[in-house]
Amino acid sequence: MKHVIVLPDGAADEPAPQLGGRTPLEAAEIPHINWIAAHGRQGRAVTVPSGFTPGTDVATLSLFGYDPARFYTGRAPLEAAARRLTASDDQLIFRCNFVTIEDGRMADFTADHIAQGDADRLIADLNELFGDDPCTFHPGVSYRNLMLASNAAQMKLACQPPHDIPGRPVADHPPQGVGAGRIIAIMDRAATMLAGHPVNRARIKAGKKPATHIWLWGQGRPTSLESFEQRFGPRGAVITGVDIIRGLAVCMGMKLIEVEGATGYLDTDYAGKGKAAVAALNQYDLVVVHVEAPDEAGHEGDLRKKIEALERIDALIVGPLLEAARRHDAWRIMVAPDHPTPCTTRAHSSVPPPFCYAGSDIEAGAGLPFGELNAQATRDLVDPGHDLMDQFMARH
Ligand SMILES: [Zn+2]
Repeated sequence: MKHVIVLPDGAADEPAPQLGGRTPLEAAEIPHINWIAAHGRQGRAVTVPSGFTPGTDVATLSLFGYDPARFYTGRAPLEAAARRLTASDDQLIFRCNFVTIEDGRMADFTADHIAQGDADRLIADLNELFGDDPCTFHPGVSYRNLMLASNAAQMKLACQPPHDIPGRPVADHPPQGVGAGRIIAIMDRAATMLAGHPVNRARIKAGKKPATHIWLWGQGRPTSLESFEQRFGPRGAVITGVDIIRGLAVCMGMKLIEVEGATGYLDTDYAGKGKAAVAALNQYDLVVVHVEAPDEAGHEGDLRKKIEALERIDALIVGPLLEAARRHDAWRIMVAPDHPTPCTTRAHSSVPPPFCYAGSDIEAGAGLPFGELNAQATRDLVDPGHDLMDQFMARH
């Protein structure tokens, strides 16, 4: 049987007055996704168990059938896996953002989307600065870098994600717990170097915000997952533009298919992803396409952009995949956002997002188009959400 999963990140939302009380999913022209919902099963899934932060990492782990309470070790370890970085048991992996702090406040958690060359040079200089210290810095994409701390077996920390404290005083959100002093000392020492760094002097001259600090967070031990193939049968191939999903794919033992133009942003190459996914379906019995764009639109609070992203996903990814899947005798296709990113709050929420799936052996549903309200009306709630994959992959 051929299985297809499309993950429109953060696509779920709330009713908006500007849309006549509809959500972006309900307002968008998404005939293929609506067909799937109408001709199959539509419901909601508890993707973020209580006690967890509603991040893409936790929610997507649930969607792939892994209980976050058992398998989630942090965000940074997944990004490290995406870059094939390995860590030992006494090491803790941190996300290391370059950020701009002005007047003691978090002015920009991206350091003005710092250019790759600038970030790479700063990472190299940090490694030189900390040559005598048991920590190493590893370049990623722009402001998203990693730090590995050694001799960290005893560390037990709570660190603040910088994107959740825009404009707020950073002194109110220091790392806390066992080992916090060491992490704060690393951040302070880095700030001293960054203060007079030529890269920052050039950035200020060019009218860009400087990378005044590093911000360490998202820490965890290496993630180890039982392979998806062992759990569910097919190995699977994944197409995505972001490192968290790449890392999950690596940890699940899935094949990563890189598509040129998959940016992890609103300008991603939807058609390129759709074409690559259709081609992959000939070779793999499970193909997953993740699209970050609806989440980005939610963070920007832009309903129009969110609708546009959903319509492109429907026309250029779901449509071609549905057509390709139906050429096979046995097939199933699922569309499932990981969590809501409402345009009103511009932040992730733990509200169970809707999902829908249809297939050659799935009985036609209630005929309702896809949407938050219709999914709720079916009273079909998958709780815990990690049971959904069992049901979607189950042989009938
Ligand atoms: Zn997400």
